[in-house]
Amino acid sequence: MMDSAHYLQRARYTGKENFVLHIAGNMGFYYGIKGKSHFRLIAIAIRTAYQKQGVGKLLLDHLFSMCRKNGLSKITLRTHKGGTAEGFWKHMGAEITGQKEGDWEMAIAVIGAAGSEGTKCTIRGGLYQNVQSSIRKDYSSPRWTNEIADCSLPMTFDTYSNCSFGCVYCFSQYQRGIGKTKEAYLNKVVRSVDPEKIRKIFTLEKETQFTPWIAQRRPIQWGGLSDQFDGFERKYGVTLELLKMFRQMKYPICFSTKSAWVFHDQRYTEVFEGMDNWNMKFSIITLDEKMAAKIEQGVPSPKARLEAMKIYSRLNKGEATLRLRPFIIGVTSKDYKDLIVAAHDAGATAVTTEFFCLEARSPVARKNYEIISECAGFDVFDFYKRYSSGSGYLRLNRKVKEKYIREMDELCKKLGMRYYVSDAHFKETCTGSCCCGLPEDPRYNYSRGNFSYALQLCRRNGEVRFSEIDADMKHLNFPWAKAEGYNCNSTEKRAKFEYMTMRDYLRYLWNNPYAGQSPYTLFGGVMRPSGKDANGDIIYRFDSSKTYISPCESCHLCGG
Ligand code: SF4
Repeated sequence: MMDSAHYLQRARYTGKENFVLHIAGNMGFYYGIKGKSHFRLIAIAIRTAYQKQGVGKLLLDHLFSMCRKNGLSKITLRTHKGGTAEGFWKHMGAEITGQKEGDWEMAIAVIGAAGSEGTKCTIRGGLYQNVQSSIRKDYSSPRWTNEIADCSLPMTFDTYSNCSFGCVYCFSQYQRGIGKTKEAYLNKVVRSVDPEKIRKIFTLEKETQFTPWIAQRRPIQWGGLSDQFDGFERKYGVTLELLKMFRQMKYPICFSTKSAWVFHDQRYTEVFEGMDNWNMKFSIITLDEKMAAKIEQGVPSPKARLEAMKIYSRLNKGEATLRLRPFIIGVTSKDYKDLIVAAHDAGATAVTTEFFCLEARSPVARKNYEIISECAGFDVFDFYKRYSSGSGYLRLNRKVKEKYIREMDELCKKLGMRYYVSDAHFKETCTGSCCCGLPEDPRYNYSRGNFSYALQLCRRNGEVRFSEIDADMKHLNFPWAKAEGYNCNSTEKRAKFEYMTMRDYLRYLWNNPYAGQSPYTLFGGVMRPSGKDANGDIIYRFDSSKTYISPCESCHLCGG
């Protein structure tokens, strides 16, 4: 490393007031020039003896903090094409803005207003941008998902109360960005779970609603409302602490992530290695780097995520899944086939997809939809108004989605990948009943006590009865109105179902075909009521006129 005194000398010599040199003892330094709105990073270096000890993080923390204090919104730099530093800067969120000779010109956004250090800082994605120095460990998780009626992984878990990434389609904003938590959520204030409390829940030392589920070693869905491997994790490491515990317990897990850095970090790769019941879903919606950067702000590029998928697939035996969600017509539709092939080549064994739904009631969301419209080349708001039924939360019609569903299905079969649709529409096309992509295999003992499994049985056998799914509902014997983290909606609904257990509630939905979440309504008429059984419960028959799949045709379950 060239001596930092050399640069100091140079600063004095050039006499530039806007020259910044920061020296971290004798371990490393960075220097560059302050512009009006950006910082030109000329060099950053760490003495060999201090490398891989967190000095780089210290320097970058200082650099981002200095930029924020000075109102500098961007850091620009130059790095060798194809050198190790190129990967590092991309990983940090840098984008290529041009090229000079054998070098890339790059830029990284610095988000957070001058003087905003502390919890008021408005952080929008990216790494190293959180300015809280410590974290409160009082966030409450796990919870039961609101899709419990047709979900095979109803117990969902999040490490953090917020996500450092900034996807414009993110739906956790409708859960977390309202009411009392709104301000903290929008200002990216973050809390984490208490690892000790989680240990007690999973060792069954503490009895909770989840005890029967955990006692049977059923998989958890990790990463429903935030990414457990985001920038907050990089700073606070709570997920890593939990991962070590789950590894010791060999507990089955289904993860969702958009992260890339953890798959290059030895502390994490050591924990992932060899686990055969940890399935990692990598969320990618397009291969187009520019569109992805606009829609998924602060998230590693699609290429970086595919690279991460490749590493995970080699390292781990629990398999990698392409989470092609949300499928956005106008964005994903441009290259989804290439994306599936790229994921296959990176080692993914399954694809799970779900079409984008549009929240028409939120003014914040409307602003975000402008970004999606710009990428799609048409007004998505208008498109959804035209091609959805209902109002408020808009889901596209079956017809609009069918072409894509069929083509993905065909391609996955050709590539030998399992294929899953999380949309209630076309769920009958799934390879198995866990639409998150877990294989039908003893490693992942997911729930069969739900309507998705009923749909699979209905397709396989032509008809299905409640008793066939009731056999696996023992974990649902808790009061509906007290379900952890579950949104009980209106007081009217509360009054109606207050004294039911969750299992009773599912039975109510089963026997009321016109209820919004009944098997008949949910799956668009594919499961049609056809008489009652000896218990007085509705028998459903498979209606092949509603779908392109007929009973048993292409059924992966029985191999027919
Ligand atoms: S990674 Fe997931 S939780 Fe985080 S902002 Fe994106 S969609 Fe939301």
